[in-house]
Parts: sequence; C-alpha cells; structure tokens
Amino acid sequence: MDMGIAGRNALVCAASKGLGRGCAQALAAEGVNVTIVARTAETLESTAAAIRATTGVDVIAVACDITTPEGRAAALAACPQPDILVNNAGGPPPGDFRDFTHDDWLRALEANMLTPIELIKATIDTMSARGFGRIVNITSSSVKAPIDVLGLSNGARSGLTGFVAGVARKVASTGVTINNLLPGLFDTDRIGATFEAQSKGQNLPLDEVRRRRMATIPAGRFGTPDEFGRACAFLCSVHAGYITGQNWLLDGGAYPGTY
Ligand code: NAD
Repeated sequence: MDMGIAGRNALVCAASKGLGRGCAQALAAEGVNVTIVARTAETLESTAAAIRATTGVDVIAVACDITTPEGRAAALAACPQPDILVNNAGGPPPGDFRDFTHDDWLRALEANMLTPIELIKATIDTMSARGFGRIVNITSSSVKAPIDVLGLSNGARSGLTGFVAGVARKVASTGVTINNLLPGLFDTDRIGATFEAQSKGQNLPLDEVRRRRMATIPAGRFGTPDEFGRACAFLCSVHAGYITGQNWLLDGGAYPGTY
C-alpha cells in the first residue's frame, strides 16, 4: 500500500534505538525525510547512516536531550515545520511510590507529559495551516492497565493521554490527527535492561526471566521495533486521516479486556 507521505518531513524523538528508531526507519521507508533525536551523538549518527543507506531519504541527526528546553529548541531548529511528529523519550524508573520524591515526579512529568505537549504546541498550528499533520505519541500499555512498579509512568503518561484526548478534537477539522501508540512488551534495550535487573534480583537465569515474561503474552513472543514502526507509519499515512484521539494497544493480546 502506498502510504501517500513520500516527501513529507518528520521529527522523531528518542530515535537512535528501540521503538523510536523503528518509527524513523518505517517512515523513511515510505519516503519521509526524518530528523532523529537522541542524547548520544555516536549511536545517533550510526542510526542515521543506517536509515540513509537503506532508504535514500534525507536524515538529519540532532544529539540532544529532548526533555530540556535547549534540546527541544535544537530539534525544532533542525526541523521547524514537521508534517509528522513522533513524541518519545526514555521511560521513568520503577519503584515503590512511597520512595518517589517530588523531583522524581517532576522528571517523569517533564519526559513523558510536558515534553510532548511542548512539541505539540510548537508544531500543531503550522500543520493545521497546511491542512495536514500527524502526531503520534509513544506511551505505554500502562495507560490502559497500570503496572504496579511503574507509578511514575502510569501517572505521567495518563496526563498526556487526557490532554491529547481534548486537543485532538480541536484540530480534527484541519487535517491534523493525534494518536497514541501503547506498547506492551517489545524487544528493545530498555526491556533487556529490565529483564537483567529481574534476573539478578530473583536469582534466575536471564533466559528463564524472558521465557516467563513471554509466556504471559498470548502471541507467544515479544513485539519488534520494526512492526511497531510500521503501525506508526500507517497512522501517519494519508489513509489514517479519520483516526484521531485514539489509544492503540500493541501488545500481542496481553491486555485481557474485551474492549
Ligand atoms: P530504548 O531504551 O530501546 O530506546 C530509547 C531511545 O530513547 C534511545 O534512542 C535513547 O537514546 C532515547 N532517549 C532516551 N531518553 C532521551 C532523551 N531524554 N532525549 C533524547 N533521546 C532520549 O527504549 P524503548 O524500549 O524503545 O522505549 C521507548 C519508550 O517506550 C520509553 O518511554 C519506554 O518506557 C516506552 N515503553 C517501551 C516498552 C517496550 O516494551 N520496549 C513498553 C512500554 C513502554
């Protein structure tokens, strides 16, 4: 299927690895020029080179922390008027909510709620004026079914979800859509690090931790950044113009509810 977005410009945040990289790669494969952002220049440049080599589109790499005002300014200077914005950042750490400090909450809110809102604010009006825009926020299945040790994620991402539900309807008539993608368990560095911590904490071999977690997923496997990226590319396509304000769960059937 031709996604109808070749030649468009996308700003993809937190995209040197994992789900953000999957989105950047899938958009580039559709002919979208991508500006990718991550903190570590070396990893980011190597991802940019790989995307360029496999797709032939223009790839701009901006090494910065997207959760800071300076980082957002650098990203927007490189891609001032994106047609497509993919919001993403690292997830907050796990823990018991009794141990989370006020500063822990502020960091989680900055990364997983306020940064996407600032970037939406900076880009949405020019999208509306041009009559086309696609905004995709990478959130988490924790928005739909809270994960007890991820209180910071449950809370901050739900704040973003509530905001998006309102603003998506305000711009729907201008050709701009805003949707959230909710990953369940995807095979990325972040999940690998979580499993390693569990392996040490529970004194279990890493393979056994992975096997047990996989057994909780009806699909019988973890998701891949590639399939996550392709779902993102479809949401950004011309064919998805009637889908807005939605929360798409990509979890291999792990969420047990009927709706
Ligand atoms: P990952 O660790 O594989 O990749 C994270 C990427 O974000 C890297 O490119 C990193 O450099 C970049 N990054 C992190 N913080 C940044 C910052 N402040 N500024 C710029 N770049 C930054 O992680 P992932 O698994 O791809 O997860 C992406 C998001 O999705 C996270 O918020 C994570 O909590 C969430 N999530 C992931 C899963 C999963 O199964 N992988 C499940 C639920 C939610």
